[in-house]
Amino acid sequence: MTPKKNRGIGAYLIVAVLLVVALIFMLKGFGSSSTDAEYSEVLSYFDEYEVKEYSLDLGDGELKLVLNDNTRIVYEVPDVGLFVNNISDYRENYNKKNPDAPLKMDYIKASDSSWLLSLIPTFLILGMCVVMMVVMMRQAGGGNKFSSFGKANIRNQANTRTATFKDVAGADEEKHELEEIVDFLKNPKKYSDIGARIPKGVLLMGPPGTGKTLLARAVAGEAGCPFFSISGSDFVEMFVGVGASRVRDLFEQAKKNSPSIIFIDEIDAVGRHRGAGLGGGHDEREQTLNQLLVEMDGFTGKDNVIVIAATNRRDILDPALLRPGRFDRQIVVGYPDVAGREAILKVHTKNKPMAPDVELSTIAKSTVGFTGADLENLVNEASLLAARKNKKAITMEEISEATIKVVAGPEKRSHHKTEKENRLTAYHEAGHAVCTYYCEHQDKVQQVSIIPRGMAGGYTMSLPETDKSFVTKKEMEEDIITLLGGRAAEYLILDDISTGASNDIERATSTARKMVTRYGFSEKLGPMVYGSDHNEVFLGKDIGSSRDYSEQVAADIDNEVKGLIETGYAAAIDILNTHIDQLHLLAKYLLIHEKIDRDDFEKLMAGEMPESAFEPKKAESESEEAESTETKSE
Ligand code: ADP
Ligand code: MG
Ligand code: ZN
Repeated sequence: MTPKKNRGIGAYLIVAVLLVVALIFMLKGFGSSSTDAEYSEVLSYFDEYEVKEYSLDLGDGELKLVLNDNTRIVYEVPDVGLFVNNISDYRENYNKKNPDAPLKMDYIKASDSSWLLSLIPTFLILGMCVVMMVVMMRQAGGGNKFSSFGKANIRNQANTRTATFKDVAGADEEKHELEEIVDFLKNPKKYSDIGARIPKGVLLMGPPGTGKTLLARAVAGEAGCPFFSISGSDFVEMFVGVGASRVRDLFEQAKKNSPSIIFIDEIDAVGRHRGAGLGGGHDEREQTLNQLLVEMDGFTGKDNVIVIAATNRRDILDPALLRPGRFDRQIVVGYPDVAGREAILKVHTKNKPMAPDVELSTIAKSTVGFTGADLENLVNEASLLAARKNKKAITMEEISEATIKVVAGPEKRSHHKTEKENRLTAYHEAGHAVCTYYCEHQDKVQQVSIIPRGMAGGYTMSLPETDKSFVTKKEMEEDIITLLGGRAAEYLILDDISTGASNDIERATSTARKMVTRYGFSEKLGPMVYGSDHNEVFLGKDIGSSRDYSEQVAADIDNEVKGLIETGYAAAIDILNTHIDQLHLLAKYLLIHEKIDRDDFEKLMAGEMPESAFEPKKAESESEEAESTETKSE
């Protein structure tokens, strides 16, 4: 632990101790010696006019009573004001009742000492506030002397985990672009002698998990220079000013240790369009961003510091960040292609025992759309599965199981579904699968399951066999058919429909809408883009999509979308009606086995599935049990 952290903990300790002490005083102050029951007892003496003499200390609430039978009682009144109120008429009434012996009473003014004593909790609380404020000011970097709190999260990873370009598989173009940066960090003089202007900032853009962080670390590793890394989300702090002071600090340290790299991960957290977002601009973020811009403008080529930033979302970055002299070098880190995926798999299986049947090229082919992180996850899941099965090596079986797990989230076998739910899910998924099977351009069905997974009650998964760089109109129409196949099956078989199809319907609708407004697939509306796509409210920027067409066109779009959906749904109903035997068969199979893999699915659809596959499983397992008990008794 660093001394900075210790200091932080020390401050919190002081606060905690003060809090406890204050609590003790407060409890004492409020008179732990007299409970509610006692107080009501006291009042009852007054109610019955038994008190002939009393004195009350207005300071600490000490009440001394002398009753008619000369008993003396001392109490501490919890609330003096309330008590005085309660007995305000007592004296008058008592004197009326006992004209010959009037009440003797005395109010003692709060003595100086007890008054001071009663203020102790207040002082303590004030003290606590002061300590808290000092801590906050330090964290906010109110003065440079105290700003060590702002430094706590900067990690210098120079001597911790380094990566090299070898660890980054595939991504050849990205690495090539970064090699120049590495060369500069290694020989800054070579560049300054010739007067070359080296980029100050490099922005890595790409979907999550594609290896942006890894690439940045690899640059540091290759150049052998210090690496100061901070995540954008670290900046978004509770106290205003922390982010800005951290940025200042980051650059200070990097300059001191130059040549060096500053890495700002997830820069979109701070670098969003200023003044955007719901509920007004986020002041803190703006300050941080401004500080970042100031720092980037402030250093020169002589500082030998390069800022690398990573983001998943270039489109929401503040344009000021992308101006020349800031992040002027932008590198897109994309999804890996087949060769890239195979290379990544090679890296991550290097130190793992793989069975001879495992072919990385086959896995690479069946994992279109996986990122490097997904593939790493896949290999890890497979090794966990192999270990659980006490296997010595990872086989293809674990790989394919892990693939599905990575795509769809883990199975939830514990979630118990009713018979009715199962039947509904079985027909719903069978509807998707049968439609997929009979749509010419759809990917092959890999697995159909009615075991809940992630958010879904069941799933039908088909994986593409090749990388696709574009999608045709026919394919999109078929997408709509297969998406609506689930609902169509429910409608045909169960004479009632469910909410389980809501996600399918949403996706089908959005596909249809994109076909019309984005890809110009509608004959009526022509090849034109309607409306802008920045409608992600939660990410800030534009609120609602901006519409650049008339009401009339809007109505046309809605009609076209509706038409596409209706056609798709009719097609799904048609397919399922034509092949209703297979639908029933598949649903039956699913109800027994819960899932079906690609080979069995093909067999079933081709009518080659043996009869025995449709016998209820329960009986099977019962007979198995009977067998095993028999063997035992023998
Ligand atoms: P990002 O920052 O783009 O979200 P990361 O760099 O954090 O992604 O990648 C997460 C993990 O995925 C890495 O630690 C690495 O194990 C793996 N990974 C991603 N891309 C690659 C790649 N090209 N080669 C090898 N491993 C990769
Ligand atoms: Mg990352
Ligand atoms: Zn569905």
